[in-house]
Amino acid sequence: MKNYLMRPHSGVTRVITSVFIVFSLWACNAPGNTDAGGQSVAVDTATAAATHQDSLKQLLAADTLPPSNKKRVYLTFDDGPNLGTRNLLTILHDENVPATMFLIGLHTGASPEQKLMWSKLQTFPGIELCNHSFSHAWRNKFTPFYQHADSVIADFNHAETLMALKAPIARTPGRNAWRIDSVTRTDLLKNKKVIDTLQSKGGYVLIGWDLEWAFNHRNNQAVQTADQLYAEVNHLFAENKTLTPNNLVILAHDQMWRTADDSLRLVDFIRKLKANPDYELALISNYPGVRRALLNGKQM
Ligand SMILES: [Zn+2]
Repeated sequence: MKNYLMRPHSGVTRVITSVFIVFSLWACNAPGNTDAGGQSVAVDTATAAATHQDSLKQLLAADTLPPSNKKRVYLTFDDGPNLGTRNLLTILHDENVPATMFLIGLHTGASPEQKLMWSKLQTFPGIELCNHSFSHAWRNKFTPFYQHADSVIADFNHAETLMALKAPIARTPGRNAWRIDSVTRTDLLKNKKVIDTLQSKGGYVLIGWDLEWAFNHRNNQAVQTADQLYAEVNHLFAENKTLTPNNLVILAHDQMWRTADDSLRLVDFIRKLKANPDYELALISNYPGVRRALLNGKQM
C-alpha cells in the first residue's frame, strides 16, 4: 500500500473519537463471566444490568455529533475479518475517518490472516464492530436460514458472544432489512416475520443500506468507480431517496480492497466525501433513532 499523508484530526473527527471511547467503555462494562452459580449470578447480573443502563445513559448523553445542516454518510463494511481488511484498516487510519464493520463470527478464526485482522479490529480506534451473524446464513443458504426465527436469533447471539460485541447492532446477511424502533423496511417480504422477530425477540437493531458499492463476485473488484459512487451519493441526497433524509448508509465489503490498486478507489471516494463541506462521516450509532432503540432494547 502506498503511504498517505496523515491529516490533522478535524473537530468532527475528535467528537467522533470521543463517542467511540464512550462506546468502548460501555462495552467494557458488559457482563463478563456468568459461570458462577447461585446468588452471585443474580447479583452480578443485576449489577451488570445497572451498569449497562448507566453506560447507555452516558452514551446517549454524549451526543457526539451536534445538530448541523450537514448530510451524514455512514461507511459500513461487511463480511470481515477477511482478505482486504488489512488494506481497509490502513486506509481508515490514514484518512482518519470513522467506519462501521459488520463482522462474521465464523471469519474471526477462519485463517491466520483473519485471526490477525480480528485481533487488530478489536483495538482499532474510530470504528464500531457490529454483528453480521455467526455463519452468514449458514454460508449463504439464505432461503432455509430465514425460515426459522429461533435459529436465526441463535446464530446472531452466537456471533455476539463469540466476538464480545458491545451493542446489539446487526445487519442481516443477504437481506437489506432495517429495524430501528418503529422504522421497518424489508427487501424480501417473505422473510419479514422472521426478521421482525430478530428485533422483537432477539433485541437487535438492524441496519440496512441506502447504497451499495457493488463488486464483481469473480474478482472482488468494485463495480462503480469512485466518481460514479460519489455521483450516486449526491443524487440520492438531492432526490431525497434515502431511508432517513440527510442520512445515507453505504454498504461495501472488506474483500473489495485486497489489492493496492483496488484500494485506491476507496481512498479516492473517501477523499471526495471529505472534500465536500456539506457532508460528514459518522459511526452507525449516530444514525437517527439507533441510540434510543438501544436504550429500549435488550440487556447486554
Ligand atoms: Zn454479508
